Amino acid sequence: MTVYVYDFAQGNKDQKDLLGGKGANLAEMTNLGLPVPPGFTISTDACRAYLAAGTEPAELAEQVTERLSALEETMGRRLGDAADPLLVSVRSGAKFSMPGMMETVLNIGLNDESVHGLARLSGDERFALDSYRRLLSMFGSTVLHIDSEHFSRALDAAKSARGTTADLDLDADDLRALVETFKQIIRDQAGREFPQDAREQLDLAVRAVFNSWNTDRARLYRRRERIPEDLGTAVNVQTMVFGNFGMDSGSGVAFTRDPASGNQGVYGDYLQNAQGEDVVAGIRNTVSLADFEQLDKTSYDDLIAIMAQLENHYRDMCDIEFTVERGKLWMLQTRVGKRTPGAAFRISRHMRDEGLIDADEQLSRVTGPQLASLMFPRFDANAEKTLIATGMNASPGAAVGKVVFDSPTAVAWVERGEDVILVRKETNPSDLAGMVAAQGILTSRGGKTSHAAVVARGMGRTCVCGAEALDVDVEAKVVRVRGGGELREGDVISIDGATGEVFAGAVPVSPSDVVRYFEGEDVDADVVRAVEEVMGHADSRRRMKVRANADTAEDAARARRFGAEGIGLCRTEHMFLGDRRELVEHLIVAEDAAGQEAALDALLPLQRADFAGILEAMDDLPVTIRLIDPPLHEFLPDYTELSVKVALAEAAGGADEHDVRLLDHVRRLHEQNPMLGLRGVRLGIQIPGLFVMQARAILEAAADRIEAGGTPLPEIMVPLVASVRELDVVKRDILAVAEEVQAARGVEIDVKVGTMIELPRAAFLADRIAASAEFFSFGTNDLTQMAWGFSRDDVESAFFSKYFEHGIFDVSPFESLDQRGVGGMVEMGTQKGRATKPDLKVGVCGEHGGDPVSIHFFETVGLDYVSCSPFRVPVARLEAARAVLGTDA
Ligand code: PEP
Ligand code: MG
Repeated sequence: MTVYVYDFAQGNKDQKDLLGGKGANLAEMTNLGLPVPPGFTISTDACRAYLAAGTEPAELAEQVTERLSALEETMGRRLGDAADPLLVSVRSGAKFSMPGMMETVLNIGLNDESVHGLARLSGDERFALDSYRRLLSMFGSTVLHIDSEHFSRALDAAKSARGTTADLDLDADDLRALVETFKQIIRDQAGREFPQDAREQLDLAVRAVFNSWNTDRARLYRRRERIPEDLGTAVNVQTMVFGNFGMDSGSGVAFTRDPASGNQGVYGDYLQNAQGEDVVAGIRNTVSLADFEQLDKTSYDDLIAIMAQLENHYRDMCDIEFTVERGKLWMLQTRVGKRTPGAAFRISRHMRDEGLIDADEQLSRVTGPQLASLMFPRFDANAEKTLIATGMNASPGAAVGKVVFDSPTAVAWVERGEDVILVRKETNPSDLAGMVAAQGILTSRGGKTSHAAVVARGMGRTCVCGAEALDVDVEAKVVRVRGGGELREGDVISIDGATGEVFAGAVPVSPSDVVRYFEGEDVDADVVRAVEEVMGHADSRRRMKVRANADTAEDAARARRFGAEGIGLCRTEHMFLGDRRELVEHLIVAEDAAGQEAALDALLPLQRADFAGILEAMDDLPVTIRLIDPPLHEFLPDYTELSVKVALAEAAGGADEHDVRLLDHVRRLHEQNPMLGLRGVRLGIQIPGLFVMQARAILEAAADRIEAGGTPLPEIMVPLVASVRELDVVKRDILAVAEEVQAARGVEIDVKVGTMIELPRAAFLADRIAASAEFFSFGTNDLTQMAWGFSRDDVESAFFSKYFEHGIFDVSPFESLDQRGVGGMVEMGTQKGRATKPDLKVGVCGEHGGDPVSIHFFETVGLDYVSCSPFRVPVARLEAARAVLGTDA
């Protein structure tokens, strides 16, 4: 027989899966001998069984009866007894706290009879009636789904009839009338009587808690917090103690340290003559714990002693709910408290100094996302803001600037000293210069792996994308805001990349102390010391290396300051934009080999200079340079635009000869599915000179570095390989160039040639490919795209919201690795590769390389390194170490 119901004395704090967080901690406190009102917990197993079958498991009722009898025995009272009633609370408590998401019903066991019993027993009729009306409204709204507005309106009416706004001014007569009104509301709204049978109240309340697991807001919350859908909640049934028993009673919340700053010292709020929900609801002003000491020294001293005991026992900051009933302190809840990112770093450092925890524990207590949030400049929390739209939080940060609609304007305005936000429908590679120049990027379309998002994250640039309430008209240079208003070029806006919010006007911003520290500034702040200490330990604990995705010498240098141990992905396509685009055009329209060669010759010195800068910034560290990947038409004018231009010119008497020729080529290169077209290694095979030129530029730059006394470690990476034969074809040329350059320059270059594994076929045939590759780097962006058949540029904004709604996934597979599917290929590819070459170096350079959850997965697969954008490098260092400790991401 499955046990579904556990006495508080039967559990402990490590049983959160079974008893939920609240239940496990109530059990722990009970066993510590703390004053916890007795009760029992109905397990998450029961909830899951209920949710699966749509009805309570057969054994539950009997097990509840058994536990309830034991409780009645202990308390010497019976539930719902007319003369001497036992009253209980019914509260939800899932494994992970979901504040405000699920249900609570207090004072179960009161009815028309027992309310008199309670009045006599307490000698306080007002109190008994007040408790009853609370039960009626909570039961009505939670169990019978009556809009709580009905009850609050009736309560307000009673108060205004009394000429007051305070609950405490209502006397017993008022409350007696209110009880009748509430019962009538239940009759009218639910079409049934309030159940007078106490056990029926209890059973219905338990069922309501089970059901509350699946309310819309609970599902939404879980999705946001990445809490699995199938955990279910436990239900805690606990003897009531009353904070509303008069002025010598009350309820409070407390923290053993300040959860906002991390400062040492207790911290909390207390409300006299109130039940717990009054404290949170803010209906009256609470007082501080210092004032509580003045009101009730004995209870205060007890509380402080218990808080110290709990913090020592949990070895962490605890948050606590307590009630004082007629001068006696009761503990209703404790748990390891939520805290701000800054407080997390500071508290873990202080606790280590205090000897409560060791360095590994300190490391496990802070997370990558917390570190990331300390690294962004932020909007001043107290500033006034006017929200005009909300999009996707694509790349965090707080940016303020003038609206511009195109890349050249962005560059020009920034050159004259302005801050700008580049606003586009969506971005493409030709917007890069503007994206670099702008403080932030705002698009009305596209998801978190759209071009804008990926590039912005790479540069640490703030980006909000897919703000669909904005109609961006680039031609007319106007943004029409759904719901009214418009923005024109030059209007100032502020975008919050951490929340996706877009505000009108300038919101004040403060820079991050932690970034100033990583950049090498001497910053005197406790939180910075805490970060420094944790990072030092993380670096000593992690197994995987952390590299950066960087395409410029500046990014490479910053990545190195942030702790990168090399470059895992230098995307070279960005080097073919701007002025150089024309050279690519020449390459494509060249009539013969000589024309092509001339174009490539012109590109060579430019490329060499690009690589020289990066190799210098990363001297003595490996630099993986990927040969050009995107289809060439991305570097050509838009097909439709050029067709129109030529057609118009022809109609007007004759088109430019160059345009006509160009149009021919653009037409020839036009593809329906460019992501599946002439890109990556296919391009290298189609136009061999291109890869050869790049390889030459890399090797010559390396030779220059060696001559200058440096130690370049270039790794040439071939993209989009599906067959070892493809790799062999281009590798032969690359090795020939390497021979030639080394011979000509009289130097020996430590160069490796490897490949990306970003197509399913490559993962399946990794054993064969490894024979020709000196390293693998998993391109999990393309691997995700190709494995799911999801166009990475389109699907997120197109239909992912429906996928989330249906629980097909909790998080975008472009953001956090789909471990079962795509992760399976990474694992298989790694194993197969190493089966051929046991010491094959294997890394990952897709966006997932900077995602904490994915990093933990890569640790289990045994990758040698992860590579991510420079700004994520510290986060990856931290998470790679936490993964070694086996801590949850
Ligand atoms: C990838 O596909 O994961 C990758 C790193 O390459 P890109 O994003 O440039 O296609
Ligand atoms: Mg790719």
